[in-house]
Amino acid sequence: MRFQLKIPGAFLALCLVLAACAGSGDNDPAVSTAVTSSSTITPTTSTASSHQTTTTIRLGLHTAPPLPINTQAMVAIHLDPTGPEVAHATAQNWERLTDLIATADTFGHKLTLLMSSDWADLVAADPVRQTALQDWVNNGHQLGFHHHTCGHASPDGYRDIKNQCRGAEPRGSVADAFAQVQDLATDLGLPLIGIAAQGPNTDGLYRAAEWQPGVDLATGIMADNSDGHPDHRFITQPRCATDYGNAYAGQVTQYSVAELGHAQLNVGAFTGLQADNNLAALTREIIQVTAGDHAQAAVNLGVVFHAREYAATPRNEPSDDYRTDRDYLDAVLQLFAEKRIPVVTAQEILATSNPCG
Ligand SMILES: [Zn+2]
Ligand SMILES: [Zn+2]
Repeated sequence: MRFQLKIPGAFLALCLVLAACAGSGDNDPAVSTAVTSSSTITPTTSTASSHQTTTTIRLGLHTAPPLPINTQAMVAIHLDPTGPEVAHATAQNWERLTDLIATADTFGHKLTLLMSSDWADLVAADPVRQTALQDWVNNGHQLGFHHHTCGHASPDGYRDIKNQCRGAEPRGSVADAFAQVQDLATDLGLPLIGIAAQGPNTDGLYRAAEWQPGVDLATGIMADNSDGHPDHRFITQPRCATDYGNAYAGQVTQYSVAELGHAQLNVGAFTGLQADNNLAALTREIIQVTAGDHAQAAVNLGVVFHAREYAATPRNEPSDDYRTDRDYLDAVLQLFAEKRIPVVTAQEILATSNPCG
């Protein structure tokens, strides 16, 4: 296998040092023998720049990194609602999602697809899309719910709290939006929706007033779901949150919801906004959980981006050399595969050790 990492030279040096230590702290004696008996990583090219080098790393059959025994990754895909200014649920973005899932399938990754009601309409309008969604879920990808609260920069207008909603016209209760995604799943013979991402949770208001009965899993921001080390970007530890609820039945009901963190990748409109959530940081933390000081710890990795970002949008980001966002996202998906980090659904991670008991 051939894997091209395009990251600054200084960081690469750190990777090589850490990788060289992998054999001694290995979890699997068989793999350890293989690693120490052959050259693990062979930099083949290095341009003579003092600031940045582009280095090709070859990983052969005998050079598999240690199998992480405790770590699984979750890749969440937001299928954003249409907001006051941008239509996200479009045929073009559906095609991008289709391409993204095809790539994920080549790696065996199982994605967590968090769908807004506008995307449910998009699917319901087309039998081809319905069949595709059925196939994806039956093949192990997970379908969940997504909603932009009135605290979001681009809210979808569904609301149970009568706050300012940034230009979004009222469209009904959040329960109505959820019902559209749940009804689609039911019509297609798919499992009940059990996971959601509804946010942001400005001032702690929205999740306490707009959460859905029966949904006991969630994805959330890293700051709420760290492993106790605030310096990570992608390493997360599930927690049991108790501040989710609503008053749909006329009285306040609260739920315990198992939540897993994720970091917004530096891609698309978030390239600059999330500049630190980059491939170099992800690589560094993967090494930490496979061969570094977290190799024995039970932690997870969480990443989120949007289906619309899986496109040949020109890219010019100082922390990597990928020319398009799609190439960059391919490298992210490939990195998990090369490092043998299983990419599974949020449900699978949270079910493994449900923090709510
Ligand atoms: Zn979103
Ligand atoms: Zn940690």
